[in-house]
Formats: sequence, C-alpha cells, structure tokens
Amino acid sequence: MAVPTVPPRSDAEQIAALLDSPEIDQLVTVLAATRWTGRPGYPIRAMVGMALAKSLYTLPTWTRTVALVGEHAALRVAIGCPDSADVPSVHACYRFTAKLRKFKPLLDACLDRMTAALHEQIPELGSTVAIDASDLPAYGNGQRYLYKGGPERKTYSDPDATWGHRSAVSTRAAGSFYGYKLHQVVCADTGLPLAWRVETAKASESTFAMPLLDAVKARGFRPEIAILDMGYDHTHVYEGCEQRDCHPIIPLRETPAVKAGKHKPPVCEHGEWTFAGAETKRRAAKWRCPTGECSPASRWIGASRLHTLIPRGTARWKKLYRLRGSVERENGRLKNEWALSPLRVRRIERVRLHADLTILTRLAVALDKARAVPLAA
Ligand SMILES: [Zn+2]
Repeated sequence: MAVPTVPPRSDAEQIAALLDSPEIDQLVTVLAATRWTGRPGYPIRAMVGMALAKSLYTLPTWTRTVALVGEHAALRVAIGCPDSADVPSVHACYRFTAKLRKFKPLLDACLDRMTAALHEQIPELGSTVAIDASDLPAYGNGQRYLYKGGPERKTYSDPDATWGHRSAVSTRAAGSFYGYKLHQVVCADTGLPLAWRVETAKASESTFAMPLLDAVKARGFRPEIAILDMGYDHTHVYEGCEQRDCHPIIPLRETPAVKAGKHKPPVCEHGEWTFAGAETKRRAAKWRCPTGECSPASRWIGASRLHTLIPRGTARWKKLYRLRGSVERENGRLKNEWALSPLRVRRIERVRLHADLTILTRLAVALDKARAVPLAA
C-alpha cells in the first residue's frame, strides 16, 4: 500500500492544538502519573499525539501512522519528537494501547471532559438525539467452514466477533456480517457522538438504547427527544424513554395490533378525533371529537407504543424523524473520515479502545473548532 501523501502543515498545527487543549493535556498528565511500565523512552504526550494523528489522517494501522510521522517534520515537532529517530515505534504504539485498556477509566474521564466542554460551547447540544447501531466487520474470517464443502473451522482469529444483521445503505444491500456493532447516541442537530458502545454483532440493538440514554444523561445532557428506527420499536424502549423525560420518535412495525389499526386516532360518529396537545407530566395526550358534540368532547390517552405523545401522523413527528439521518451520516463520517473502519484489531476490548480513540479525536477537533469560532448566541 502506498504511503499517503504528506498533508499540509495546518493538520500538524491541529494536532499540536489538540495536545495542548486542557482536556487532552489532563489525560497526558494522569497517564504519566501511572508510570510507564514498559521500555523507557517515549513520552506519553507523543503517544497520545500518535493516536490523534492516526484518526486525523484516516490511517487504519499503526504501521502507516509511524511511517507518516517519520517523514513529516511538522508532525514530529507537533508531537514533540523533532528528530525522526525519536518517533515512537509500532511496538511502542501497541504497548500504549495496552496501557490505555488497562487504565480505561482515565480515558473515559477524558471523554467525559470532552463532551462537557462541547456542551459548554454548544448549550443546546444533546436536546434532540438520534440513536442507531452500525456494523463494524471483524478483522477476521467468521465462516464456519474453511472452504465450501470443506472441514469446519476450529479456531477463529477473532473469537469475540459474531454474526449479525445490517440494514441496507446506498452502496450495498442488507445482509449478515461477522463482527461488531457500534451503538451510539448522537446530537441530532450537530451529529456529535454523545455516548456509544461497541458490542458483538448478534446483540440486539434495542437492548442498548436505554443504557446509552442513561450514559448521555450521566454526561449532563438532557435529551428531550430521541429518534430511532424501526429496529427499536419495542414497548420497553417507549416506556424507558418516557421514564427518562424523553419523547421517542420511532416508526411502527406491522405487528398484529398495528394491522388491527389500534394505533389510529379514536373515531366517533363525527369523524376521526384530532390531537389537542400532550402533557409530559401526565404522560398522556389529549384527543378531541372533531365537532365537539361528543360527551365528553375530549379524552386523555396515556403514552404507549401505539399512542406516542408526539403522534406519528403529525407534521412535527415527520420533521423530527427526518433528523434520524444525523446518526447515519455520523456513522459514515466516523468510518470514512476518521478511520473507524476497516477494523485492524481483534477482540472486543481492542475494538472498543479503537472506537474510543477515533471518537476522542473526532470530538477534540469539533471542540477546537467550536472554541475558535464561538457559535452566535
Ligand atoms: Zn364526536
């Protein structure tokens, strides 16, 4: 594979700015305090700089990252090793990732600082969120047979990966794949990831919707609306959202109740009843006889899967559901612009770290931009 062309100097300046941000500087400090147990030498700041460079330059491997930094003088200066002989080795990068896995709470705290700082810059961040899962095919073969009609595979190179289903995107059809899924909550207005987790591919996505929403709230966000696709159309998701003071926007699957029309507005001899507003505290929506001749002329219907507080037929619901594209676009961005995929690591803990570092860089750059150009109040 060809070595990537050397990017302009501004990207090196970007990395220097990220390393100097208080959020990442603190990560460097706390990691340094744990003491470097491996071979002595590379400073933690340079190692964090390597990790940022890997995502920023969309590089799938440490080998290519080390090669890029080695031939890029400005980048070497940015991470603090101007002499090319001092550039961290590929093995040092692997030892660093092992250290990060061991000290995961320190990285988690850095991600918490990052989302909090973004929230400070963008006060409305996370008030409307979109949740979805995206496929991350494993770096390994999951076929059960070594070849067609051949013997069964005895060992799998990535035993944590499993077979799961992915939905269609523009470039390929839906189908099964072997690997992992990134489940994430993004801010529907900015696309920024607010909470995420990597799980094995076969795990059902609706299982993680509430833990993710809780993680978003634990980071200080107050999501009022959550937009999800049909894969999350389960009673427990609706109830969980409302219990968290968040209105779910989810299309209905064709279940027997839906086929029987139980999701439709009430009707009377005067016609179909109209929506007359919802009360969040009451967790119910008011519906009214179209002519007001019924007695009573209106009644409350409690929030449920079939009758949501933002009713599916309304213009507001349709407008909100269109924001679901934000999470799909973010999945694409992380994969194509920040090197989230293709995976070049095996085992779920390594895939999780890879996702964390990718999103850390993505958020750090967004924060840097937000600070440089404060949004108009
Ligand atoms: Zn009526």
